[in-house]
Amino acid sequence: MAGVTKHIFVTGGVASSLGKGLSAASLGRLLKQRGLRVTMQKLDPYINVDPGTMNPFEHGEVFVTDDGGETDLDLGHYERFIDESLTKLSNATTGSIYSSVIAAERQGEYLGKTVQVIPHVTNEIKSRISSLVSDDVDVVITEIGGTVGDIEILPFLEAIRQVRLDVGRENVCYVHVTLVPFIGPTGEQKTKPTQHSVTELRSRGVQPDAIVCRSESPISDELKRKISSLCDVDVMAVANAADADSIYEIPLVLHEEGLDRVVCDILRLDAPEPDLADWRLLNQRIETAQRTVRIGLIGKYVTLPDAYLSVVEALNHAAIHHGASVAIEWIQAESVEGLMVDSLLSGLDGIVIPGGFGERGIEGKINAASFARENGVPCLGLCLGLQVMTIDYARNVLGLANAHSSEFDPRTPWPVIDLMESQRSITDKGGTMRLGACLAKLRAGTKVAEVYGNEVVSERHRHRYEFNPKLRSRFEGTDFVIAGESPDGLLVEFIELADHPWWVGTQAHPEFKSRPDRPAPLFCGLVKAALDRRPPDGAPDQANGSGPEQAGERGEQVGEPAPAVAEESAAARR
Ligand code: GLN
Repeated sequence: MAGVTKHIFVTGGVASSLGKGLSAASLGRLLKQRGLRVTMQKLDPYINVDPGTMNPFEHGEVFVTDDGGETDLDLGHYERFIDESLTKLSNATTGSIYSSVIAAERQGEYLGKTVQVIPHVTNEIKSRISSLVSDDVDVVITEIGGTVGDIEILPFLEAIRQVRLDVGRENVCYVHVTLVPFIGPTGEQKTKPTQHSVTELRSRGVQPDAIVCRSESPISDELKRKISSLCDVDVMAVANAADADSIYEIPLVLHEEGLDRVVCDILRLDAPEPDLADWRLLNQRIETAQRTVRIGLIGKYVTLPDAYLSVVEALNHAAIHHGASVAIEWIQAESVEGLMVDSLLSGLDGIVIPGGFGERGIEGKINAASFARENGVPCLGLCLGLQVMTIDYARNVLGLANAHSSEFDPRTPWPVIDLMESQRSITDKGGTMRLGACLAKLRAGTKVAEVYGNEVVSERHRHRYEFNPKLRSRFEGTDFVIAGESPDGLLVEFIELADHPWWVGTQAHPEFKSRPDRPAPLFCGLVKAALDRRPPDGAPDQANGSGPEQAGERGEQVGEPAPAVAEESAAARR
């Protein structure tokens, strides 16, 4: 469908964390299923230049795009729902916008004019929006982060108000997501917060065309009529998204509510009804899952599950694929020490050791890798996960005492994980990592190659440290298999244990590319091994078969390195 690119702007009111990103992504999916070419963008009013340096405790996961953008986690929802790979252009913050404006001012580009929020900052915001417009895109959905009423959101509301004037009324649609809370002992649903947030939006010159009301349980037609008349929005354009069991239901809910029809009418898009057969099938698989696997996630930020959002979704996708569901046990890495190791980990069907930065909890993660290795528990290590698996093997099987990553112990005699040469001189905290999609070639006959079904694969990266190539020979000829490496053979990308159902690590973050109907292969492998470990309910449990024996064997190998080993260790240090 050629023609002008249409814009949908999604704002939020009343409260944060309403699922505005999910609503936007779901609308994107519906439009895509109508045959439209959709792309998405998030504009974040905070001042950080990008989320790369933000604490996951506060902001949740940093989502990495193919081109190495460190972006807001909502981009993960967008990619999973619209099934398109996005780029850095799909996320801009006040910080990045001001950086551009100030750089332009320093270059003299404003010809001596006073540089102001309007028009200079708002023009920069508009140029970020139009950077996604192209002949290949029918609809750009732009979500504005934060909530109307926030101080820092004002330039964004002004910019999106102006876009309607710039590109024409019929090419812009404003969708406002609000909350209809239950209040009081009678559990009455209240429209007042919605009215107030729409009033606030209008005071900035933006009249919503459609309202998505989030609520705990469905709202009545009468309430919709009330919202319609008080907010001056067509009653057909008041859509209700009540809490759903699965986020993948939301496109179906919004379609039932007619949101995609209303948006197409407003934008004068003559698109056929969406084909939702596959999406319905996906939801059916979720609803009819027969079995549940218990996967322990050994992390540092487990009190804020959003810090591992893509990992959780990748686990869900893999489970859906295998007709199962996942119960995640959130395990604080620091607690996986001493006597707690057994009691925390022994009931699990599988373990994920996710990515992370900083030393806290590292020994617990190494213990988890050892436990999984010794007890035949399926384990998947992601980025830092691969690194701790390598450290476990070096210390406990190869006998390289005190082996570590130089990130956590710069004086270790065995830096099995070390800083990449190219990163040594960089001191700036932003964007100094190996970021974005990198190719790897897989070793034929490995479990990793088998699940990918491909010789060359591409996954996204976000790290500074690597498996130390200078110590690679120590691992050769053992059951620690280097299952994939960079095309030039210099960097280790995948590892696995030969005699283990699934002890696999990757230097990459395959969770970022997992899609509900196309799960990441390594997560599929993990969930499959976890399901195999625990026979269907009723059958005798086969788990823990060879654990203690293996542990005994490995135990004998632990000890001080031989003198020759010590020399090599010194040489391996930079
Ligand atoms: N901290 C490790 C590194 O920088 C791992 C990073 C990660 O897990 N994303 O290499």
